[in-house]
Amino acid sequence: MTPHISERVQALAPSATLAMSQKSNELKAQGVDVINLSVGEPDFNTPHHIKEAAKKAIDDNFTFYTPVPGYLSLRQAVSRKLREENGVEYAPTQIVVSNGAKQALCNVILASINPGDEVIIPMPAWVSYVEMVKLAGGKAVSVNADITQDFKITPAQLRAAITPATRMLLLCSPSNPTGSIYSREELQGLVDVLAEHPGIIVLSDEIYEHINFTGSYTSMASFPEIADRTVIINGVSKAYAMTGWRIGYCAAPEWLAKAVTKLQGQYSSNASSIAQKAAEAAYEGSQECVAEMNAAFRRRRDLVVELASQIPGLKTNVPQGAFYLFPEVTYYLGTVTPEGTPIKTSGDLAMYLLEKGHVATVDGAAFGMEGYIRLSYATSDENIREAMRRIAAALANLK
Ligand code: PMP
Ligand code: GLU
Repeated sequence: MTPHISERVQALAPSATLAMSQKSNELKAQGVDVINLSVGEPDFNTPHHIKEAAKKAIDDNFTFYTPVPGYLSLRQAVSRKLREENGVEYAPTQIVVSNGAKQALCNVILASINPGDEVIIPMPAWVSYVEMVKLAGGKAVSVNADITQDFKITPAQLRAAITPATRMLLLCSPSNPTGSIYSREELQGLVDVLAEHPGIIVLSDEIYEHINFTGSYTSMASFPEIADRTVIINGVSKAYAMTGWRIGYCAAPEWLAKAVTKLQGQYSSNASSIAQKAAEAAYEGSQECVAEMNAAFRRRRDLVVELASQIPGLKTNVPQGAFYLFPEVTYYLGTVTPEGTPIKTSGDLAMYLLEKGHVATVDGAAFGMEGYIRLSYATSDENIREAMRRIAAALANLK
């Protein structure tokens, strides 16, 4: 027997968002002037008062292990936030703080999915969902919602996807990669179907809650019909520009929160004590920074949509939240580059845009939808203008 990599990890696809960003950084290191619209993270610095809280945490010796689910004071702050902002009740004992929303999601999936269990995932979806379900041995069941339905599934589609093996629905609103947001009425339609199936856990990824241009937000947990089996995923990465701090959480039924705590206690213990104190300051401090960043994202959304609309053949929706545009690019498939390379797939197109246009995007296929690319517009207006100019020029060269 030679040393080997487990089948579990062999079966995993690498994260396409992180891979594309890495490729763009490599080109930059070679001196190529690349604009990176691949990775999705706010370009703002973490607000001052949050950084100060972290420095104070170090000086006050918050440097020991914390309880596995996180400091009680942070879980109390999250519990209050959920009550006041979302109108939902989760006691601190129902909240588990993890290394980012990413670990929070993976924890919940690993703690509730058995081999063979089915997880319904509306597509396009963030790259890591399907892989996390695979890690648990579960089966991801895709339900496709393309641009003609603003990337949102209908109650009829949900009903048709449910089988006796369905254990979970994984919903993301505002959505990565499309920016679509389900309205309260649209969610109610899905909830009516879920109410008929009490065995299905609803995993609601609300990480982009605060990057929202509609002026209102409905949490999936606010529907009494399903509240006792709805798990909220959220965190500070996007709302407070804190991607590197790695603080996210699940708010779950108590039995599931306990299972998640047991799991996390065996493989990562608590999230960083210092980052937890910073997150507490984010929730307890002034929320002005959130509104300011939201306003900037809205302005950039308008800019990127306007510039994309001037490029022949690109079809876009008007994203209502998050910081992504997910244009349909099939108009350019079946063309060839000036060098004679065929562009057959959206992956070929994303690679061409990177290598010849020097703009990094992500292939829609990584999100489960061929024929699209994802642009993250969490960058300066100047970068957005220049990136869209380059994309337009590169696309105009395809014959
Ligand atoms: N969910 C979605 C939809 C995301 O886009 C991200 C960002 N990568 C995450 C969860 C994870 O966020 P983090 O781990 O940084 O909290
Ligand atoms: N949410 C970001 C993205 O989709 C971060 C990278 C990742 O974790 O996938 O690009």
